[in-house]
Amino acid sequence: MIKKEKGSSDELKKELEVSKAKLALLNKKSIHSVKAKPKKKEAKKKTEVKKLKTKKTEASKLEVRNTEAKKKAEAKKKAEAKKKAEAKKKTEAKKKAAKKKAEAKKKAAKKKVEAKKKAEAKKKAEAKKKEEAKKKEEEAKKKEEEAKKTYEELLEEQLTEEEITGFQIDKTDMDRLSNKVCEIVAGYETEGMFQSELWKKLKLSSRDGSRLALKLERMGMISREKILENGRWTYKLIIKRSPVSTSSLEGAPCLTCPVEAQCSIDGEISPKTCKLIDDWVRIESKHSN
Ligand code: SF4
Repeated sequence: MIKKEKGSSDELKKELEVSKAKLALLNKKSIHSVKAKPKKKEAKKKTEVKKLKTKKTEASKLEVRNTEAKKKAEAKKKAEAKKKAEAKKKTEAKKKAAKKKAEAKKKAAKKKVEAKKKAEAKKKAEAKKKEEAKKKEEEAKKKEEEAKKTYEELLEEQLTEEEITGFQIDKTDMDRLSNKVCEIVAGYETEGMFQSELWKKLKLSSRDGSRLALKLERMGMISREKILENGRWTYKLIIKRSPVSTSSLEGAPCLTCPVEAQCSIDGEISPKTCKLIDDWVRIESKHSN
């Protein structure tokens, strides 16, 4: 469009120049021409001048239009370039922001991992510390318990040998009870059983049971093994000498002994010193072998 306008402007210019030349020629002619028809010539000249003026105006208008179009095109180009530059700037800023965001995210994730690691290490250290403290406490408790004297040990310190061997429970046949204890303990053979279990079976208090166990140990019927069970000291009772069965008591001299009522382990009349019982046990032993 601009090119087209430019083309037509050149043509007009050319035409203008041609007209100018024609006008000059006409002027010359008018000077040298015959003065016969001056009015006609003047009129023609006037028309030509008018035409020339019109063409001049049109050319000038066209030039103005061309200049304006050029200005517009340049302004448009400038605006587009500006728009493009702004868009580029925006994209770059966006990219920069995204990169910054990604880096910050990465940094935060790294920080999180480190914090987690730190927390785990702390937790581990605390658990280890706790475990060590618990172990120490258990060891101290064990030592403390080991240092403690058992009730039986205290009894042994407090009681005389006579008090131990002569232990009696009110309204209880002690020989029968001793036999029963030995029978039960014998059932566990060399493994033995916890004295607390036995007292429970016989419905004995631990005080009476402990004294009975001491008595049976002194009599050589059982042995006691000190054991630390669940952090507490206790005893296992193991049979040493099996009790005599009821059937084997048939023919025992005690059954028909006239002084049986006065006979006791630590008494004046005692199986320890009784010749009848010694003989009977010897014969019985021979038979059982
Ligand atoms: S041990 Fe001897 S004294 Fe005692 S009751 Fe038996 S037989 Fe009699």
